[in-house]
Amino acid sequence: MYLDIDLHSHSLASDGTLSPAELVSLAQESGIKTLALTDHDETSGIAEAQVAAERAGLRLIPGVEVSVSWNNRTIHVVGLNINPEDEALNNGLAKSRDYRNWRAEEMGRRLAKHGIFGSYEASREMAKGRIIARTHFARFLVEHGYATDMNDVFKKFLKPNKPGFVKGDWAGLEEAVSWINGAGGVAVVAHPARYKLTATKLRELFSQFVECGGKGIEVISGNQSRDVTFCMANYAKQFGLLTSVGSDFHDPDKSWNRMGRIPQLPKSCSPIWSEWFESDSSLSNSSAASL
Ligand code: AMP
Ligand code: MN
Ligand code: MN
Ligand code: MN
Repeated sequence: MYLDIDLHSHSLASDGTLSPAELVSLAQESGIKTLALTDHDETSGIAEAQVAAERAGLRLIPGVEVSVSWNNRTIHVVGLNINPEDEALNNGLAKSRDYRNWRAEEMGRRLAKHGIFGSYEASREMAKGRIIARTHFARFLVEHGYATDMNDVFKKFLKPNKPGFVKGDWAGLEEAVSWINGAGGVAVVAHPARYKLTATKLRELFSQFVECGGKGIEVISGNQSRDVTFCMANYAKQFGLLTSVGSDFHDPDKSWNRMGRIPQLPKSCSPIWSEWFESDSSLSNSSAASL
């Protein structure tokens, strides 16, 4: 029995391949009743997703995935139930997007030094005026035969110490959490297992995150193993954090983070959404009831 809630997904407004409306349709077909749109450093897809969700009878949670520099690396903090019009949040995200644009040009220059030309121009074209992510560069490099698939391309070109990598210079943890809290949202550490942090560093991250006013962590992300889920559920309990779940969906052609395949949370978890729907009778509240 899968959950009918998915609190992490991407559209064309960042590095997803579906428009916000197409994403909502696919969510509906996949049995999702509550979907958060969480584009990278961008809220511009939310309005279209809201309209589509209302038509489809689905609950849309306005969200964002904020890029954060922490301890010399990039981590991601998801903001859920944010006001997408909030001025301080939008000013902050606009700063992140400026950095992103510079970084994309710099990635293009570095890849050119490595003999790979035109990657910035092609990525910018793909992004169609919206944010340029490493994902766009990755698609270009795979299409041009520099790597066999997305995983391979990140390993060879786009990770730290590789030719196309540019160190992140994003908002700090406290800053990002304050944007989210200031916009009425709740802050959640995205896919904590993916940073390959030692247990000590991960504890440091969670403890600082709580100090900054962060409220939750993703205990389930994509199709991670059940062992990882239980490990993250333990951290949530230890740090008094609420728990979130998300497919991190980007692309229907990528089978590893399909929508509608999120299993039940371990019993020790306090779902971040459990108080969201109490006064909302217009939609089925099975997301909460299914636990
Ligand atoms: P950026 O925010 O521009 O640095 O790009 C990060 C994005 O790259 C992530 O949100 C993922 O969508 C994508 N990504 C990172 N690592 C991988 C990987 N190994 N395989 C496929 N996509 C990846
Ligand atoms: Mn992405
Ligand atoms: Mn992420
Ligand atoms: Mn994501």
